[in-house]
Amino acid sequence: MNSFNDVWDSVCAYCRNSMHEVAYNTWISSLQPVQLDGSCAVIRAKSDYQKTIVEDHYRSLLQQGLEEVFGFPVSVRVVAEEQAEAAPAAPAVEMEPSAAHYTFDNFVVGSSNKFAHAASLAVAAAPGKAYNPFFIYGNPGLGKTHLLNAIRNEIHRRYPTLSVIYTQGEPFMNEVIAAIQTASTPALREKYRSADVLIIDDIQFIAGKESTQVEFFNTFEALYHAGKQVIFSSDRLPKDMKSLDERIQGRLEMGLIADIQQPDFEVRVLIIRQKAQALQFQIPEVVVQYIANQLKNNVRQLEGIVNKLYAYSRLTGEEPSLTSVNNLINEIRKDELPEPVTIDRIIATVAAAYDVSPADICSAKQTAEIANARHICIYVAREVTGLPLKTIGKSFGRNHATISASIKKIQTDMRRNSRLRANIEDMVKNISGMA
Ligand code: ADP
Ligand code: MG
Repeated sequence: MNSFNDVWDSVCAYCRNSMHEVAYNTWISSLQPVQLDGSCAVIRAKSDYQKTIVEDHYRSLLQQGLEEVFGFPVSVRVVAEEQAEAAPAAPAVEMEPSAAHYTFDNFVVGSSNKFAHAASLAVAAAPGKAYNPFFIYGNPGLGKTHLLNAIRNEIHRRYPTLSVIYTQGEPFMNEVIAAIQTASTPALREKYRSADVLIIDDIQFIAGKESTQVEFFNTFEALYHAGKQVIFSSDRLPKDMKSLDERIQGRLEMGLIADIQQPDFEVRVLIIRQKAQALQFQIPEVVVQYIANQLKNNVRQLEGIVNKLYAYSRLTGEEPSLTSVNNLINEIRKDELPEPVTIDRIIATVAAAYDVSPADICSAKQTAEIANARHICIYVAREVTGLPLKTIGKSFGRNHATISASIKKIQTDMRRNSRLRANIEDMVKNISGMA
């Protein structure tokens, strides 16, 4: 089981059966699983008050639920929202499968990914020599992050002295912004330029971000000309990142580009079997085939259903059947409807891209920079969420007419300025992809 998150629903179901509905909705349903640290489950409450209530009244119930699902005794630590940020880096079992878990051994190869897989193996065998740069693209949930980490782990194994840096487009952008603000870009440069292998996952997030693109370009040039390996992934081709600097686009297209497609039926079956086997969990063949027929687009979902089925079987002691799997598939389909991205998330992302603070966006300040970022933020919020203007207005502390004026202004600006249009269109795509 690699995901505490996936079994959390079963723990909640257990608690729900043993308590009053109102109490459940008030105290338990909003708890968030943070991590499973050995046999201690860390759970996040939204406030200190909720934390106290849960600790005083529901700790043993949660423990029972966890034990039921995991099959071994689990202690509970409740943290309040602010504390959770400061929790130490997750060990052993994390919410996200740890990077070490992604290897070539547990990557199922089929026609949809065999080219990307073979190229990844070649890059890991001879970093800087086989394909440089190396670029993988494909839709979400098809194995890009898995392959990049498999490369990273394989290089560690074969060449333990090489320094491999793995990061993602968005954290990289935040790091560059923070370095500029604290005048520490030299240290940042030194860090990235000391890499023998640089891997940036989801590189699409740097498109259109001026200072990040400059740092990226210079780092790329330095590493590439020193014969170091550079590896990227994205959900689209370089030419389809509209606001990507042309020089960067050129560099990304210079090496090998490999795509990952939707897995076909055979591969889906193999993946389900492999995920079950990793849990030492038996799923009847008819159920395996049924799942493979129902869920076609996304490997993450296949993994999710195996985990859920496993938790469910642990909980009920029943063998997986077509009925139980059908219920879970319906649940997964519901989950698939993306959770709306919050306006706070949109504000944070747009603010970072335009180098202003989220607080400024919602403030009354009218300097040109802040006002412009605010208009863009409002436009993006409307595009991504489709919420009524009045609702959006509330989040920005502004009335309906102001929101409407911002949107019109940006529409006009975008018609006049193709660069701005490219920037905003990419941003809308990126933010929508976060759902
Ligand atoms: P992406 O980065 O493309 O969005 P991920 O690499 O995060 O996708 O894959 C989603 C999940 O599916 C991961 O848990 C990964 O291990 C699993 N997965 C994807 N492709 C395969 C595969 N071919 N074999 C085994 N597991 C896979
Ligand atoms: Mg990924």
